[in-house]
Amino acid sequence: MSQLVLQRIKDNLVLLGLKGILSGIDASLEEVQKETISYTDFLDRVLEEEISCRQDRRVQTLLKMSRFPYLKSLAEFNFSFQPQIEEPIIRELASLSFLERKENIIFLGPPGVGKTHLAVAIGIAACQKGRKVYFTDMDKLINDLKNWNKKKMWFYQRLSLLVIDEVGYLPLDRMESHLFFKLVNSRYETGSTILTSNKSFTEWGDIFGDAVVASAVLDRLLHHATVINIRGGSYRLKDKNALFSQKELTKRTEPSSA
Ligand code: ADP
Ligand code: MG
Repeated sequence: MSQLVLQRIKDNLVLLGLKGILSGIDASLEEVQKETISYTDFLDRVLEEEISCRQDRRVQTLLKMSRFPYLKSLAEFNFSFQPQIEEPIIRELASLSFLERKENIIFLGPPGVGKTHLAVAIGIAACQKGRKVYFTDMDKLINDLKNWNKKKMWFYQRLSLLVIDEVGYLPLDRMESHLFFKLVNSRYETGSTILTSNKSFTEWGDIFGDAVVASAVLDRLLHHATVINIRGGSYRLKDKNALFSQKELTKRTEPSSA
């Protein structure tokens, strides 16, 4: 093939936005010329390259749009640090069958136990499967709903997976509680939500300032949900704790000067 024709093909690939074919065409053409692959295999290969390139781009866009606070996967989660978390349950959740069933996940526990990390890891898995995910904390969500109301409500309703972090850090007033209930109600059995909270369900009445609203919210959320209660220590403080216990140990085992 003349260099002129090859250049024209590449220019046309650029014009058509076929970046996957463009990046692999030289290597595949070389194999055709060496007769290690047929023309059909060549076409099959470049088309596969284009599809995989498009899928990668879509996942990157979905990850950007999801606004995760950090990108951490399940592989980076140290299950041995939180032995009471049942790894098979988390792995099953990360397989995303809960998304197909429009179910919810609620992570409860004190700060630093890995609630956000696990929520993000499952969210990333959903993006990798081409799902629309959005991560927000409760404070931002309520502000969005108050300021944008209908438009934002529509945005949140359409997501395949909505992650609401830090439910319960700030109490809500009557109007805010009502907006939150409206959102939860509209996503009930139509989309999945992951929530993280440092408050046990019995304290949710305080968050919503009203036991009736709290129980209506919990009713919708918990009907189809997996609740993961994490009771372990903070991963953020693990080195400090180790240092502390080491100091304690040294103090206790040092011979007394008396
Ligand atoms: P929280 O429960 O407060 O949401 P995070 O999930 O934000 O806690 O965890 C705090 C930090 O500790 C994050 O950087 C997170 O990646 C890390 N972390 C928490 N638990 C683990 C764990 N078991 N293995 C690895 N990193 C962890
Ligand atoms: Mg958190």
